[in-house]
Amino acid sequence: MRRILVAGNWKMHGSTAMVQDLLEDLLAGVDKQSDVDMAVFPPFPYLAQARSVLNGSSISWGAQNLNPISQGAHTGEVSAGMLLDFGCRYVLAGHSERRAIYGETDEDVADRFEAALASGLEPVLCVGETLEERERGETEAVVERQLDAVLRRCGVAGFERAIVAYEPVWAIGTGKTASPEQAQAVHAFIRDKFVSQDDIIAGQLRILYGGSVNGSNAADLFAREDIDGGLVGGASLKAEDFLAIRNAVA
Ligand code: PEP
Repeated sequence: MRRILVAGNWKMHGSTAMVQDLLEDLLAGVDKQSDVDMAVFPPFPYLAQARSVLNGSSISWGAQNLNPISQGAHTGEVSAGMLLDFGCRYVLAGHSERRAIYGETDEDVADRFEAALASGLEPVLCVGETLEERERGETEAVVERQLDAVLRRCGVAGFERAIVAYEPVWAIGTGKTASPEQAQAVHAFIRDKFVSQDDIIAGQLRILYGGSVNGSNAADLFAREDIDGGLVGGASLKAEDFLAIRNAVA
């Protein structure tokens, strides 16, 4: 049985005071025993704060990116080992903003996924099509290409300890959510792709939906057979809104 995961990507938002309040409010709003898992992805400088507030709680934390190299002369970069040093469980790989703004290719994303796995982090592989790609009928081809780059590198076994997040680019931060039917269709496509390689891994794989998830649409989305939770941007920056998403399914 796959547990629902509600994960908050805080992107480049926050300050010490804001992060402290948000973490404490989230902690106060969740019970230790819950059927729903929660995780937050603060910017790098706030990972120590996440560890100090969340340690021992039911909320996990992770980072939004990593450099696949373990150490060296790479000014401005952060390695998997450093993330583990701050107690991270997860790391995002291939968020569409990294792909679009910072030019990360499918191979760059595979490098990050592979380095995360090798270090013991659980990568969250983000995939998804742009509006133009959807309108050209290329959604499945794009998602498949993004998955294949990682599958070629790490094999299906690489997904035993990983998560996939389907995030249609046109739905991220736009207020335009994919309908539960649209999202489920792509999630089923993703799961079927894994079924053809290893049905046990496919059955266990958590596939999150991301793209303008909020307290009003979460229950409908997460009720679909192949949608195992959400990767939430904007609505994860306010404890009340983020908890509303969690409480919609808890
Ligand atoms: C995201 O940042 O991954 C995301 C899905 O953002 P939003 O929920 O704001 O669309």
